[in-house]
Amino acid sequence: MPRVGTAGPRWCVPGQVTQAKEVRELFYVKWAGFDYGETLMDPSGLRNHLLWGDTCKSIGRPELTADKVKAYRQLREAYGEYHTVKEGHRHEVYEHVLAGDDRAQRAFMEAEPRLLMEGDGLKWGLRYLRDEGIVLDIVSELKGTVGPIGENVILRFLRAHGLASLFRFLITPLGKIDVATGRIIDDRYRGHTKEEGTLFDVLVEDLAEQGVKGDEAVMVGDRPAFDIQPARARGLLTIQYVGYVDLPSGTPAARPDARIGSFAELPGLVAGWEQRPGGNGRR
Ligand SMILES: [Mg+2]
Repeated sequence: MPRVGTAGPRWCVPGQVTQAKEVRELFYVKWAGFDYGETLMDPSGLRNHLLWGDTCKSIGRPELTADKVKAYRQLREAYGEYHTVKEGHRHEVYEHVLAGDDRAQRAFMEAEPRLLMEGDGLKWGLRYLRDEGIVLDIVSELKGTVGPIGENVILRFLRAHGLASLFRFLITPLGKIDVATGRIIDDRYRGHTKEEGTLFDVLVEDLAEQGVKGDEAVMVGDRPAFDIQPARARGLLTIQYVGYVDLPSGTPAARPDARIGSFAELPGLVAGWEQRPGGNGRR
């Protein structure tokens, strides 16, 4: 596994430190992991009547829209929230809502990523981090896909929004997936979840092999129980994204190192940590 963050200086703020040695000492954050649902992806535009209206229209059966909306809502009632249905129970969307109809599935797969929106300031914030040499991965609770793994909902979202080239890997309970090829390249993650925290155990080990220590890595996500608490407990820096939902952090141990309402805040925030004498703000 190639080492991360050895390419050279990344944070060189004009008027501040210019000595190579000192600059190197300011480099802490080498890796950033992003949650998908309600973080990178903002579901505000995905109104059910639009999603199922577009899907049914494109198969020439607009009269089915109300039935599909109802069937989808039944899944939401069974699993609590749409994000849980979308990330963990997609096969049931195909079976229960789309009744195994291949044409309808293809229409749904085209409509969904198009209607999903990006988190506020996402492209700008991510490009900035990437251009500064920080490696970007996605860390998601994606537990199942329908059809080829390389066609999963997250990769389709990235492609539909021109974001795929910014990310390296998609880390999930299905394994570590190479964003460029859509292939699983590391099985160690299989069966491990964010909710149980074991996915982060594997991640910390994986990052260490790449030369990235826990406090050189930052996890960004919206859900304290999935993205913040288990990552923080394993020594990663954490940022809670509150641009879509602002969930209470719970106990002091679960509190993130920072909260942002827009990804446009990321560059200044990470640079601020890097510029602190002696560390990144937690030392
Ligand atoms: Mg989320």
